[in-house]
Amino acid sequence: MFEGVNASDGIGIGVARVAVEPDLSFTPTAPEDKEAEKARFMAARDRFIEKTNGQIERMKTSGLEKEAGIMGAHIEFAEDEGILDSVNESIEDGMCAEQAVSEAYDMYYNMFINMDDELFKARAADVADVKTGLLADLLGQELVDLSSLPENSIVVVHELTPSMTADIDRTHIVGIVTETGGRTSHSAIIARAMEIPAVLSVADCTTNIKNGDLLIVDGTNGQVINEPTNEELDSYKFKAEILAADKAKLEVYRGKATETADGTSKLLVANIGNPDDANAAAEHDAEGIGLFRSEFLFMDASELPSEDEQFAAYQKVALRMKGKPVIIRTLDVGGDKEIPYLDLQKEDNPFMGFRAVRYCLANPDQYKVQLRALLRASAFGDIKIMVPLVTDLVEIRKVKGLVKECMAELDERGVKYNPDIEIGTMIETPSASLIADLLAAECDFFSIGTNDLIGYTMCADRGNDRVSYLYEVYQPSVLRSLKRIIGEANKAGIMVGMCGEAAADPLIIPVLISFGLDEFSVSSPSILRTRFIISQWTKEEADALTEKVMKLDTAAEVKAALQAAAKK
Ligand code: PEP
Ligand code: MG
Repeated sequence: MFEGVNASDGIGIGVARVAVEPDLSFTPTAPEDKEAEKARFMAARDRFIEKTNGQIERMKTSGLEKEAGIMGAHIEFAEDEGILDSVNESIEDGMCAEQAVSEAYDMYYNMFINMDDELFKARAADVADVKTGLLADLLGQELVDLSSLPENSIVVVHELTPSMTADIDRTHIVGIVTETGGRTSHSAIIARAMEIPAVLSVADCTTNIKNGDLLIVDGTNGQVINEPTNEELDSYKFKAEILAADKAKLEVYRGKATETADGTSKLLVANIGNPDDANAAAEHDAEGIGLFRSEFLFMDASELPSEDEQFAAYQKVALRMKGKPVIIRTLDVGGDKEIPYLDLQKEDNPFMGFRAVRYCLANPDQYKVQLRALLRASAFGDIKIMVPLVTDLVEIRKVKGLVKECMAELDERGVKYNPDIEIGTMIETPSASLIADLLAAECDFFSIGTNDLIGYTMCADRGNDRVSYLYEVYQPSVLRSLKRIIGEANKAGIMVGMCGEAAADPLIIPVLISFGLDEFSVSSPSILRTRFIISQWTKEEADALTEKVMKLDTAAEVKAALQAAAKK
């Protein structure tokens, strides 16, 4: 059995698909038979085209027209006459097919990457993908395509990047196992949203687990069982049935108001990453959207999405939520969220670097495209704008200034928007917590991002399993920070919510009720359970527990006290 981080609940039983980075190294050797070498290259090219066409067809039938269009570029580069000639000439000159392919595609790659036009620049990534596909074929290496795995597959991979997760076919993948990442890493968040059991940070899993092994992924307990015995299989099938029955019991909370046992209303909303996730949020009975991570729109694209494209995405969510609140966070790039075409410089410490609102304010014209799209969408629902990673009051003031400029521009264009749109901030840095009083005077609402707040408060990277023992919402420093933030918002009379993963933690919910949190924003599958937990506590009970807990000295003591008080 392998142990890891319990990143997404549930039990998955299936066959391991180990996606190792292919080894594309080769030793250049002159071919003995040049014609045979050319034929070897042509055969690899034909297989690549056939495979890509298959992917395009599957994408089209799944409604992914745009993605299918991007794959079309791969076909173009595989069929390109100029590249073809250059490969064949190099083979004629004595190169092997691998070297000829590398040199031809590298030349095109360098040509595109050095162009000023962003559109052409973005094509460099397509060229690189075609080169990888052709080389892998020539070298007999298999590239795992997450979008076309057979049923009951369990993906075993070193790291699941946000862009890889976009490819996941959730109907066929029943589990995820990785070598890196913590509970609040973006792969974990996406796995939870997709309701796929996941265990992360399993050391050396891509070498210890072999393709085709039978696996059980216990995402609730962070365990992976390789080649289970029949008894183990039976026992986990039974556990899976119990989990399903538990889930079914929560159905009585569907359609109910979210309120504490003594009748105080709370707002229970969902975190989403793309417009289609709003459907899942509505299906899980969310009362709105508390966090739309707009960066996923940017990550899924190969160039900056235009104002119209962004508008369409935001409008779709607004319409889907039918007048319920929708908080959309402006681009939160950097840290563990990379967007290749933005060409951000490598930094020694990206989590403390040029990211999120810092990047946006340094690129105001680009930021205003997003702000105008958000304003336009605000004519179709209750959209609110949220700013990530704020550390300085000036940042909020600047964003508000840009929003005003955008309003004036839309007035000139005669485009409608909500002139009273609310602008709020994430509170996810110690600085924002410490100046919560100043920010409360400038903002319409707060949403506490515990994923980052815990990390920055404890100086413990959210994805680093070696320091995960420090990364706990139960840390006295974190609890004091939460108390302060919620208290300042309450004092100023503004709404305060939480969109970090802690909002769905059953142990901490009574403490949040006691502090006075108004809104809980959780992943869609956690909605009903969170409503159930909130309904178990009166304010008086929550206050008594919180008073006790705030006197404790360590996270372990706090957690033990919360566990002892948890209601069954
Ligand atoms: C957070 O930091 O808690 C948060 C919700 O933002 P993200 O997880 O996207 O960084
Ligand atoms: Mg954050």
